[in-house]
Amino acid sequence: MLILINWAHKFFCLNFKLATILNICYYILCLKWINCKVLYERIMILDKEYYMKLALKEAKKAYDELEIPVGAVIVRDGIVIAKAYNKKEKKQDSTKHAEILAIQKASKKLKNWRLCDCDMYVTLEPCSMCAGALIQSRIRKVYIGTMDEKTGSCGSVFNLLKDYKFNHNVDIEYGVCKEDCEKILKDFFKELRKNKKNKYTNI
Ligand code: ZN
Repeated sequence: MLILINWAHKFFCLNFKLATILNICYYILCLKWINCKVLYERIMILDKEYYMKLALKEAKKAYDELEIPVGAVIVRDGIVIAKAYNKKEKKQDSTKHAEILAIQKASKKLKNWRLCDCDMYVTLEPCSMCAGALIQSRIRKVYIGTMDEKTGSCGSVFNLLKDYKFNHNVDIEYGVCKEDCEKILKDFFKELRKNKKNKYTNI
């Protein structure tokens, strides 16, 4: 029953303008009628995985276009307001990372550069440029799929999001759908090596 409510909520939220009303109803149902902390927490885990899977779908689009497969989704009050994937090669522009493109779309949609009550789900740990953009856009929380030991700036090389000298800190949660997020990257680079394309060796 609870799972059905959860999926119905997501279906309507993603497809209709009644999203806000349904969203409120959903949380009332979860919090008031089904007054069970364990079940509520389970729904929250399902939510995280659901949104990360949407980000993975974006990453798959990048994969199909021979881009490094990274996808990002921005969610506000349970509603997806922006989705994007890496377009660095296609646009020949080093700033066209999934996170930056998603932030641009969200700001345009909300007509506001401040994304204070928005969360981002991203399949790969953001680089220093994207971590900077997360701080600048006041994103509330970032959910990260897998870590980037070479250029990750949210815990690997640096952790810019938790540098308390900045005027805004972004909450972080690691390891949402970690295996799937790792797999798509591993598959991509494996295929790339197999095809002996050296185009991406300097990333
Ligand atoms: Zn980046």
